[in-house]
Amino acid sequence: MSTRKTGLMYDSAFASYKAADGYLTFTKDDNPWIEESDYYETSERVQQAYNLLEKSGLLQKLVPVGATPAPVEELLSFHTPEYIEKLSKLSSSEGGEAGPLCRIGKGGLDVIRTAIGGDMAALDAIMKGELDNAFCLQRPPSAHAERNHGFGFCVVNDYNVLINYARRKYNLQRIMLIDFDNHYKFGIEQAWYGSNAVLYAEAHQTGAMTENSPADRNADFIGEGEGKGYNVVIPLPTGSGDAAYIKAFEEIVSPIADQYKPELVVVIAGFAANIFDPLGGQQLTARGYGRLAEIIRGIAERNCNGRLIAMLEGGKGNYMAFCILKVLEALSGEKTDVPDLVDGLITRRELSCDQEKAIQKVKDILAPYWKL
Ligand SMILES: [Zn+2]
Repeated sequence: MSTRKTGLMYDSAFASYKAADGYLTFTKDDNPWIEESDYYETSERVQQAYNLLEKSGLLQKLVPVGATPAPVEELLSFHTPEYIEKLSKLSSSEGGEAGPLCRIGKGGLDVIRTAIGGDMAALDAIMKGELDNAFCLQRPPSAHAERNHGFGFCVVNDYNVLINYARRKYNLQRIMLIDFDNHYKFGIEQAWYGSNAVLYAEAHQTGAMTENSPADRNADFIGEGEGKGYNVVIPLPTGSGDAAYIKAFEEIVSPIADQYKPELVVVIAGFAANIFDPLGGQQLTARGYGRLAEIIRGIAERNCNGRLIAMLEGGKGNYMAFCILKVLEALSGEKTDVPDLVDGLITRRELSCDQEKAIQKVKDILAPYWKL
């Protein structure tokens, strides 16, 4: 039995909220051929994980963290008043477009405020020492959201709002924001690219965004001014799996973290790189996510008394629930009997040559700033 106290922030509103009904996400308007399909960002994303946690027995070992809606002013620490006003109008009517590939549903702003309120409560419990770390099982996702519009299912940027709160309330000078989701986040870049107060370190699928967005980011987007060297971008080739991500985290993210010495670790816990994600092209397994979470937990334990808050970001499909379970096993130090359903099926354990090269390239680019 682990002595670590891990919180689980959850509210039933995250499971009942509908971002859209029958909305055809990635098909053209003039489609006479098939019936409309669901929006990808659905209730099952949290419901299945919650049920699996319960069935596995892990839920009962976690400390529940409740959520009360954050004041709307908190959202203004990053977003423009005009955008929040627009969301408020959409949310109190039937919902609608909040940006490209992004919808807010009826009542959505209340659900978002509840998620942020829960994040703040989890952070407070960690800072007071009541919890060692916490996972926030929330939706909708948020890290892509920019100052004045949503993007890719993300309506409000909960991470930027939470980091602003943490800096204001606890006077934190160094926060590390670690992202293992499938895409680079312009919404994070907008807030911290010129700052060393937040070190953003992420690994993503090369080119995953180019179809829907003006550009992807390469490894040479290292930050600017005071933030130079504090924006760590690790683009990994399509098809990369556990071995590539683990190597990137062990050889780049972890040593940089130990030199930066964060006072708090925040995790953009997205699962769009999971092997069954319908939109992603990566091959991460639940076991791989568990290993990444162990590495991140190690960073927090070596540098800041284990203070770590992870918030659910993107990812689709029911395999995601297994990935979330393995992350929570790693954060809590508790084990369950639930197997990784792909164990034995995934045989590739070596890195391909292009994956090796991609990792080496990032190391070379960051060499002037960090010992790697
Ligand atoms: Zn994404």
